[in-house]
Amino acid sequence: MERSKKIVFVSHCLLNQNAMAVGKEKSPGAVKDLIELLTQSGVGIVQLSCPQIDFNGGLGRKPKGKPQYDNKDYRSSCRKLSKSVLEQVEKYLRADYSVLGILGVEFTPTCAVHQLENGTRNTPGKGIFIEELEDEMRKKNFQVPIVGANLNNILATMEKIQALLRYA
Ligand code: SF4
Repeated sequence: MERSKKIVFVSHCLLNQNAMAVGKEKSPGAVKDLIELLTQSGVGIVQLSCPQIDFNGGLGRKPKGKPQYDNKDYRSSCRKLSKSVLEQVEKYLRADYSVLGILGVEFTPTCAVHQLENGTRNTPGKGIFIEELEDEMRKKNFQVPIVGANLNNILATMEKIQALLRYA
């Protein structure tokens, strides 16, 4: 068997919606269509840790906005996690694997890539972990595409993932 040598890093809750803040889950377990698309394409899937479970609120937490998470301790924990994620990315790159991208989750205060939920409105913005991850990438002077999964629009998200897979 030949390995694909293609890897994608995914936010924890795309494989496990049980990690979401209570009431925000969109499926009982994995986000099936997205994960099926990835598994069928033969890429290896690395599940990231969930910053909110690990550092702020744990399981059973109520939904909160970005301002309620945005404090020094949480940022520093997200920065440490970003560094360790990028070390893993670099290991794969050094070993001549392709890291196709990192999948975040739109409308969440920690893992949003382009859009935040702001009360009853959606506004442009990034989650705290994604901000720290991009910052660490800038410092290391390398870039891996970060794509936001929109769980309210799975078809559009699948198109974005297909584009990543096409350019692999
Ligand atoms: S979006 Fe990020 S912080 Fe929120 S549940 Fe998913 S992995 Fe955890």
